[in-house]
Amino acid sequence: MTGALTSAELAVARRARGFMPPDEGEALAAAAADADVGLGPFLEVGSYCGKSACYLGPVARRLGTILYCLDHHRGSEENQPGWEHHEPDLVDARVAKIDTLPHFRRTVHDAGLEDVVVALVGDGPTIARHWATPLSALFIDGGHGEEPAHLDYSGWTPKLRSGGLLLIHDVFTDPAAGGQAPHDRIYRPALDSGSFEEVSASGSLRVLRRV
Ligand code: MG
Repeated sequence: MTGALTSAELAVARRARGFMPPDEGEALAAAAADADVGLGPFLEVGSYCGKSACYLGPVARRLGTILYCLDHHRGSEENQPGWEHHEPDLVDARVAKIDTLPHFRRTVHDAGLEDVVVALVGDGPTIARHWATPLSALFIDGGHGEEPAHLDYSGWTPKLRSGGLLLIHDVFTDPAAGGQAPHDRIYRPALDSGSFEEVSASGSLRVLRRV
């Protein structure tokens, strides 16, 4: 162990399909390792093919909790045909829609994380409306449009109790570096609400704690 993950776990996570850069993935695992799991389990919004689950899952297991992975698995706006992050082989030709669920399941299986990673498949705001379990760590890496980012913020951050960690991916202060929705619709509102304090920043990853 050099950080929150063993070198074998890191190798698995780095190999997994997805867009999480290795340094930010490691920072994600390190941040989650500080969670107070007495508050509840981990939940990530936007799992795609399971790469970030490979960073968070081993940490959850070591702390004696589990990781819920929420995704409709139809791809965000930026994953659709004609957009920057479209991967044509993820389209299920029979229904002519993206389907990342089989890839997610394969990733979690191959990483040996099926005992600790629990998939939630469906519409995030709908699940949030019916979700009553408090969380110790919430990782938001969902749709990067204005509305999806706002819905992830408004639907899920209330599930964090005092001391719970809010982890946000793809926060760019410079518009030239990337889309602004995670910054404008999640990161800023969280800080401006007065309910969160910033713990750390690594690349585009921001770590906040509910006060
Ligand atoms: Mg991301």
